[in-house]
Amino acid sequence: MELARIFELEARDGRARAGRLILPHGEVPTPVFMPVGTRASVKTLDCRDLQELEISMLLGNSYHLYLRPGIELLTRAGGLHAFMRWPGPLLTDSGGFQVFSLGDLRKLREEGADFRSHLDGSRHLFTPESVVDIQRGLGSDVMMQLDECPPGTCSEEYAAASLERSARWAVRARRAWEESRPLHGHPQALFPIVQGGVYDDQRRRSMDLLLQQDWPGVAIGGLSVGEGKPDMRRITDLCGRELPAGLPRYLMGVGTPEDILESVALGIDMFDCVLPTRNARKGTLFTSQGRYSARSARHSESFDQPVDPACDCFTCRHYDRAQLRHLFHVEEFSAMRLGTLHNLRYFLQLMEGARQAIRAGCYAAYVEQTLAPYHRPKGGGAEGAAAS
Ligand SMILES: [Zn+2]
Repeated sequence: MELARIFELEARDGRARAGRLILPHGEVPTPVFMPVGTRASVKTLDCRDLQELEISMLLGNSYHLYLRPGIELLTRAGGLHAFMRWPGPLLTDSGGFQVFSLGDLRKLREEGADFRSHLDGSRHLFTPESVVDIQRGLGSDVMMQLDECPPGTCSEEYAAASLERSARWAVRARRAWEESRPLHGHPQALFPIVQGGVYDDQRRRSMDLLLQQDWPGVAIGGLSVGEGKPDMRRITDLCGRELPAGLPRYLMGVGTPEDILESVALGIDMFDCVLPTRNARKGTLFTSQGRYSARSARHSESFDQPVDPACDCFTCRHYDRAQLRHLFHVEEFSAMRLGTLHNLRYFLQLMEGARQAIRAGCYAAYVEQTLAPYHRPKGGGAEGAAAS
């Protein structure tokens, strides 16, 4: 089977990369942030919002979609693109992360992961093969292998045994991918996932095993799962140095503006995280002046002051901080939506700025300038509202 190349590298600045993913549903400029559409929806938004925000690629969650509304239904609907009215590129995860988050509700064996649904306790089995079939039904542009994502605090022995099994699962997923056909008329890429915890040697072992085969791209899993920041940064650095330059690198589940910009500097191209959407629903907004709490009473009379004067989103163009503070205070649904529109636009602009800076050769200065408000101590401009 011929492996289509889906990535073009366009510019480098140090180790930071600007490029382009070429996918069946469109081209994606990188570095890219993918908002999370957990249950065939980005929470609080509709399909028109996604287009107006200029999202270039979305992420869907196989686990949640498999339980509800179910893969057979989604297949009959024409796949996830058609069902959720999203015409652009789509990546689906393998469901592994959600299954392994179930704790006592799941059991791991060589064949796959047994689990009980968090909804009704019904029993299910995810195997590397069945997870490829699920993603064939969803019709995503990029699929992920089933892997085990151990906690960031696991022992080296555990990380070693786990990564070996995940690598065997990658081989099985790969075979299922090669032997199955797309159901919705377009090819689908499959990424393996580097594991190995916080241990350099284990990460190297994982890369060695996975890269014995050629892949269209590669993901780094098992970070931002309870390990400390220094470990996360060191492992990202190691993977950024040692992964093949021609493959897009996807750092799963990361993260804050700080983590994302620092990881781009280490050679990462793709990101996803629930942080901007989840925080928005709680009233924590990211701005060019740092984090700010939209619920805070100090904004009760911030008339004519947008969330972020540097932002072009719907919320910043039509609302002020006083109105938004009121809507959050009285728990209007519109507050969560307006916050989400802003936070996602902020993250998308952050990535566009990163891309332009890399192409212009001034990425380090961009990072310093962008993150300065986030590093200022409390009371020094940014409000220091903790990201919850
Ligand atoms: Zn805005």
